[in-house]
Amino acid sequence: MASPLKVLFVASECAPFAKAGGLGDVVGALPKALAALGHDVRVLIPRYDTIRASTVRHAAPMAIPMGGGELWCAVEETRLPDSDVPVYMLDHRELFARGYIYDPPNGFSPDNLLRFAALSRGAFWLGRHLGWVPDVFHAHDWPTAAIAMYANTIERDTPFGRAATVLTIHNMAHQGIFPASQLGMTHLPSWLMRSDGLETHGALGLLKGGLFHSTMITTVSPTYAREIRTRQGGFGLEHVVNFRGNDLVGVLNGIDDGIWNPRTDPALPAHFDADDLSGKLECKRALQRELHLDVRDDVPLVAVVSRLNDQKGTDIIAECVGPLLSLGIQLVVLGSGDSQSEATFAAWSHQSGGRMRAWLGFREDLAHRIEAAADLFLMPSRFEPCGLNQLYSQRYGTLPIVRATGGLEDTVAQYDGMGGGTGFKFDHLSHRSLVETVRWAVRVWREQPEHIRAMQQRAMRKPMGWDLSAKQYDQVYRWSLERRRGGV
Ligand code: ADP
Repeated sequence: MASPLKVLFVASECAPFAKAGGLGDVVGALPKALAALGHDVRVLIPRYDTIRASTVRHAAPMAIPMGGGELWCAVEETRLPDSDVPVYMLDHRELFARGYIYDPPNGFSPDNLLRFAALSRGAFWLGRHLGWVPDVFHAHDWPTAAIAMYANTIERDTPFGRAATVLTIHNMAHQGIFPASQLGMTHLPSWLMRSDGLETHGALGLLKGGLFHSTMITTVSPTYAREIRTRQGGFGLEHVVNFRGNDLVGVLNGIDDGIWNPRTDPALPAHFDADDLSGKLECKRALQRELHLDVRDDVPLVAVVSRLNDQKGTDIIAECVGPLLSLGIQLVVLGSGDSQSEATFAAWSHQSGGRMRAWLGFREDLAHRIEAAADLFLMPSRFEPCGLNQLYSQRYGTLPIVRATGGLEDTVAQYDGMGGGTGFKFDHLSHRSLVETVRWAVRVWREQPEHIRAMQQRAMRKPMGWDLSAKQYDQVYRWSLERRRGGV
């Protein structure tokens, strides 16, 4: 390959250490695929007290100029599982040892600007601490969007100022907005508070500043890259995204084969693959027993694994449980979030006999067993930057029923009536279209089992590994370096 690059991922999440959603999965997997291409890739995350990994503590502490003076941190080090990719953790107890990543349950953390600006600025001081100057800083969402602004201002004339900055947008809805009066504590220059910088309706917007200042921008699917240029998908930043349109690339997420593989998954009671799906039926029966559903092979099992919120359209599912069950299906919901949806799912779970179960909470092993056991997977998102669960379900031979938006549009191929495709898609999110699309899928499941089998095998064999995405990120890094310094 062309010359290897030094890349530092800086992020607020990294699976399996700290994960709140898809961002954590990406930061836990993509660096390994890039390392496999020969790059020197490393990761920096905060040392949350919720992290259970064993780490080695560096003898020397590290000081980050921040707030009124310096923040003294320790650096802890471990590796991404099954790899040599170093993960550094910034240990500052006051900022990160709080039992949560972003905000306490039902509350909010008033000093998130300081917490995540310290992480962003800490990336440069980690470089000094290690004597290692990255070619590329790869930031993720608003928590580390400030990296590009540090690189373009107070670090511009240091060796780190030659590094390109790449910002990946995992979700445009979260923009890191803070009172303008807090700017001083970040040590970012005050001239950044302008409409083509940090300023957003009089407040300070980290994502906006990152969009203006990053060398290149990526997002997690080609369709989402188009959607964030529109009023509906841009959440007020569409004009900025359009301004940077030439520097924006959509790269689909992959799935980690070591974690999501029905042939080897330790959470499953039986294993299977595209050539022999018999183990999948055993998984279905086992889950029906585990969740006290009627043990029935002839009833299609429809699953939901999701955060319960507006983005995911789970409110519409909650409002349609009755009509959905009247299609003669079983419904399993694993998720937590919106309290009204939780209450509705819980009530149905109690009153539906053996036809519906809700498990309200976050449970990784159960998510795996549900993906393996279900026949159909429901994901009616209002918007979906990439989405991982529809990828997992395809890998496990569970056909997704999705709204055709963002990454769902890019990764699910519509059933064509003849056994082609890998799932079922609808455009408009309404009670009617949701129920009608499930009715359609259930009819195919009952009446055309050979079509379902062909779709399952196609879905399971589809290449979805991180190696494909890593090659595209490699290209983005090289383009970024060309823009930043005229070449590698
Ligand atoms: P998002 O990042 O928007 O939540 P994604 O589909 O990209 O959505 O990723 C969701 C990730 O979180 C997947 O790995 C999924 O399996 C996991 N997940 C979501 N809710 C739960 C839950 N209640 N229990 C276990 N895993 C969950």
